[in-house]
Order: sequence, then C-alpha cells, then structure tokens
Amino acid sequence: MNYISDIIKSKEITVSFEIFPPKPQAPLEPVMDTAKELSKYMPDYISVTYGAGGGTSANTVKIASYVQNELNTTALSHLSCVSSTKDEIAKTIEELKAQNINNVLALRGDIPADSDFPNPGSYKYAYQLVEELKKAGNFCIGAACYPEGHPESSCKNEDIEHLKQKVDCGCDFLITQLFFDNSVLYGFLYNLLKKGIEIPVMAGIMPVTNAKQIKRITKLSGASLNSELNSILDKFAEKPEAMKQAGIAYAVNQIVDLIANGVKGIHIYTMNKPDIAAEIMRSISSIIKD
Ligand code: FAD
Repeated sequence: MNYISDIIKSKEITVSFEIFPPKPQAPLEPVMDTAKELSKYMPDYISVTYGAGGGTSANTVKIASYVQNELNTTALSHLSCVSSTKDEIAKTIEELKAQNINNVLALRGDIPADSDFPNPGSYKYAYQLVEELKKAGNFCIGAACYPEGHPESSCKNEDIEHLKQKVDCGCDFLITQLFFDNSVLYGFLYNLLKKGIEIPVMAGIMPVTNAKQIKRITKLSGASLNSELNSILDKFAEKPEAMKQAGIAYAVNQIVDLIANGVKGIHIYTMNKPDIAAEIMRSISSIIKD
C-alpha cells in the first residue's frame, strides 16, 4: 500500500502534480505521455482529475492506473459524486480497488446547470462520498478546501464548519483551491486550526502562463487575482513567452514563501504542461530536498 498519508509523514516537504484527462473522443496517449514526462521529476504523487459524467470520468481511472501501475508513481484519483448515481460511484470504487489505487480525492463536483439538485439517486455533498470511501476500506482519502471560501458559500465561517464535518468523516489530507496571495492561505490555515482541523493541507499552486486561460479559471474557481499578478497580466498578456516566464517566476516565489513559512505540501496544477512543471522543479530543487 502506498498511502499519501504515509508519504506526508515520512517527508519534510511533498510536491505533487495534477493532470486532467483528454476531452471525450480525444485520444488518451498524449495525457499518458504527459504523465510519463511528469513522473521523471519524481513528484510524491500525481493526481488525475475527474470529469463530471461522460467519457472523461472513465478515463480518470485508466490514467490513474497507468500512473500507479506502469509509471510506479503514487496516483491520486479524483472522484466526484454529484453527477453519478450511488450505484455508479460504488462501481468506480470497486474499479479503483481492482486497479490498486489506494488514494482518492473525494469531491462533490460542480452542480450541472441542467440538473435538479440534489438528484435523489446521488450524493449531495462530498462528506457523504468520504463516508462511502471510508466504509469501502483501505483508501487514503483527500478532499478539497477553499482558502477564499467555496463560491456557493455565503460565509467563510460556515464553509469551514462544513469542511470540519467532511474532515471528521475520515479525510486524511486536504488540497486547496488555487490562490495567488499567500497571506490568504495563512489566514485560512489559522482558521482551520481554530476549528480543530489539524490534518495536512497541500497548497494548490497554479502557474499563470496564459492570460486568457487564467481569466476563465479564476471565474470558475472563485480565486481572486491580486494587484501584483494583475500588473504582470497587464504587461505581458500579449507576449506569450514573457508571460510564461513571468508566470513561472510568480509561482516559484509563491512556493518559496510558502515553504519558508512552514507549509509542507505543494500541489502544482500543471495544466498538462510538463515543461512548466520542469522549470518550477528546477528552481526549487534544493529548497525541497529533505
Ligand atoms: P463539498 O465539500 O460538498 O462542498 C460544496 C459546497 O457545499 C460548499 O459551499 C460547502 O460549504 C457546502 N456544504 C458542504 N457540506 C454541507 C452541508 N452538510 N450542508 C450545507 N452545505 C454544505 N471538480 C471536478 O468535477 N473534478 C475534479 O477532479 C475536481 N478536482 C478538484 C480538486 C481540488 C483540489 C479542488 C479545490 C476542487 C476540485 N474540483 C473538481 C471542484 C469541486 O468539485 C467544486 O469546487 C465543487 O463545487 C465542490 O466540491 P467539494 O468536494 O468541495 O464539495
């Protein structure tokens, strides 16, 4: 068994990567190649996102299995529950077990625009999926958290109350939504401790290397751009190579500051771009050495 909770205990700093499956109908191979390339940088684990329904959700398990069983890199398979029936979720849990995948990020998923929420045959919140995974046994369970509050939550305090409920159901670690201002994370971590949430929290870092893409992502995630990043975007948005360099430099600065301030887990949203992950890993190689 290769539980992420054990890896976290055994290391001073962990660095992990996130990748996403191809769009439905697109071939799997390019993403498998991305995973292979990323595994060369020896991340502590690679997580694979879960598309809501359709072809991409089946591909999550296939890609996670490739990472786990062919690349010999610990895989973290995301699993979201709001767009699947309870039976479908039970089948996916069995499939994960059969593929030797012991680490799952338990998510609710975004509510599809065209559905009645909650669907009577589905789970309503991620904590219910955490309970199911706990019952299934032998899983190390992660969950999502939101330093700026979840976009549906009217109040950050309430959001942390719900997070506490999710953690108490059996989460082993948390991964944060992307954020660009480290002081937001530090305040959030303080509030988690005040509420008695003491499990490890991995800081989700997104290198901003494409101006158009980041506007869409911040809108979806609810993460806000700060003035420093807005200046970078104003200056370099139309110069792709300069934007890429500036975005990587910003992410590296963020990571260095986080580690200097005691954060022990860095989760890089790679956007399936191994060259960017490689550049970041080169810049922090001595900093993350045990
Ligand atoms: P929950 O923890 O269920 O929370 C959702 C909302 O419900 C919050 O506002 C919370 O405060 C509220 N809530 C929770 N419990 C209760 C309760 N008991 N009563 C009332 N309100 C409650 N999405 C995907 O589709 N696929 C992915 O692979 C994916 N990966 C992600 C990875 C990370 C690290 C993060 C941060 C997000 C990811 N997401 C992914 C997005 C995520 O699915 C959405 O943000 C979704 O809207 C919420 O999921 P959750 O698991 O945080 O839900």
